[in-house]
Amino acid sequence: MAVLEILKYPHPVLKKKCKCVERVDEEVKRLIHDMKETMYHANGIGLAACQVGTPQQVIVMDVSPIDPGQGFFALINPEIICEEGEVDYEEGCLSVPECTEKIKRKEKVRVKGISPEGEEMEIAGEGILSIALQHEIDHLNGVLILDRISRLKREIYRNKLKKEKQRGEKE
Ligand SMILES: [Zn+2]
Repeated sequence: MAVLEILKYPHPVLKKKCKCVERVDEEVKRLIHDMKETMYHANGIGLAACQVGTPQQVIVMDVSPIDPGQGFFALINPEIICEEGEVDYEEGCLSVPECTEKIKRKEKVRVKGISPEGEEMEIAGEGILSIALQHEIDHLNGVLILDRISRLKREIYRNKLKKEKQRGEKE
């Protein structure tokens, strides 16, 4: 297992639509193990494969730091099949450092996908589990929290990054 580098905005891979996994082979299983380790190492509660430079439809998640009733799981080719209600939640992202924004999400979702054992599975989520599922599935579609906030807020974040970069170049 290995801790991988987490790509940061504006890395182009984060904007890509991720490919469907055709077969759950050893390579996919290794990717899941590495993503799990990378997520825990970064103190994250979820991670999408594109965030570690592999644009495939794989997510890992463990929201137990916020909802102790939940645990770790990985999901391949996840797809939202049911959604209900609306909720605002302050979200952050390992690929968008120093940015937390209130995002509008569905309150409950039902997601189907494939387990690392190659079996079909369904997860019904509400609360943080629902929000994290939507956040990670967004990643698989090349969508970041920056795409879900106002243009003004996005500009403010971009300018902040630009200034930080300039400061870094001067030093
Ligand atoms: Zn994220």
